[in-house]
Amino acid sequence: MPSLNTQILIAALLGLLLGTGLGALGDASLTKEYMLFGAGIVGNLFVDLLKMVMIPLIFTSIVVGVANLQAHHQAQRVWKYTLVFFVSTMALAMVLALVVSNIVKPGAGLHLAMFADAMHNFEAKQLTPADFFAQFLRSLFQNPFAALAQGNVLPVVTFALFLGVALVMGGARYQHILKLLQEFLELIMRIVGWIMKLAPLGIFALLTTLIATQNLELLSTVGGFIVLVFATTLFHAVVVLPLILYLFTKKSPLWFWRGAREALVTAFATSSSSATVPVTLRCVEDNLRVRKNIAGFVVPLGATINMDGTALYEAAAALFVANLVGIELTLAQQLIVFCTAMVASMGAPGVPSAGMVTMVMVLQSVGLPAEAIAILLPIDRLLDTIRTAVNVQGDMIGSVVVDSLVKNNMAEDESVTDSSSENI
Ligand code: ASP
Repeated sequence: MPSLNTQILIAALLGLLLGTGLGALGDASLTKEYMLFGAGIVGNLFVDLLKMVMIPLIFTSIVVGVANLQAHHQAQRVWKYTLVFFVSTMALAMVLALVVSNIVKPGAGLHLAMFADAMHNFEAKQLTPADFFAQFLRSLFQNPFAALAQGNVLPVVTFALFLGVALVMGGARYQHILKLLQEFLELIMRIVGWIMKLAPLGIFALLTTLIATQNLELLSTVGGFIVLVFATTLFHAVVVLPLILYLFTKKSPLWFWRGAREALVTAFATSSSSATVPVTLRCVEDNLRVRKNIAGFVVPLGATINMDGTALYEAAAALFVANLVGIELTLAQQLIVFCTAMVASMGAPGVPSAGMVTMVMVLQSVGLPAEAIAILLPIDRLLDTIRTAVNVQGDMIGSVVVDSLVKNNMAEDESVTDSSSENI
């Protein structure tokens, strides 16, 4: 029996092939209908199972991660490195998108008329950046029980951060609660192991359905933009992020991909960073050997706010829409796109097409018609695959880099202490 990793890769390839074959059968075909019905059931089951463990896992992992971290004398450094890593890699992704879009100018000269119907049926909510920011802030704090029950990740993360800090500040008296949560986390990871046995079948089914239901005519019309987003996102994944990994840790990209592929393929197929958290944590801890307290903090937090792929996509899409409607954005306007896309992608929850919803704000920030989302919606499911995979890759590389920086600092601190004691 091949390893789970190999099974997942084979399943993904077969899914892409079968999806293409089914797509060619035409919509009236009964074979296509039955096969997609079956694939739909299996694919949804896999995603539902991941979602079943997602909220308890994110919650416990952050509480335990933060509690262990706060007790560690390096806690402040971990917070600092993590946030700096998240913001700077997202910024790099957006700069890449803006530079490439300015050179290639996707969408210039395309006719909008064929999308008129879709635009007509789409009702955009008027949301200014200030509204969005206020809404985002308010969405951080909610009744945690309601948020847990509704699978609302952001307030769960906030509450878990508070609880983790409170546990540490409470001292030894609360150690039994921490121990209980640690054991609960181990149990959930055991269930994740069972769910992963279904991963090859689930991923096969999800990719078959995804590819077979694409509207090919539309794809060929906006093909240039799709290729641009895929190519730029891939460049970020294959060149920029691995370079950062190498610079800070001297680890090779091959080593990374070998350990990370289960999570990358799962993210690609589910289009949800949050649903992928169980798999991401497994890969980061077991294969990439990141210490549990660092992984437990960086991965769930990253799945909620660190979105390189989404940021890159939102910046590229804003320029695409501007080209479509025949507006050339000035440098100042592109700077506004950069800032709003940063907030918009951080605020997007790690669920399918979330970036599309927060995209409205980016368009409106520079006066582009929010209705243009209607053009992006039909192709979103396809583009969401790669951007989610890169979002998750960013979280994993972030964990490895932060872990290694903290280790190096500890070693330095120790050598300074040693040499100063020798001096005495
Ligand atoms: N689907 C993405 C994620 O889960 C978010 C987005 O829509 O960009 O990471």
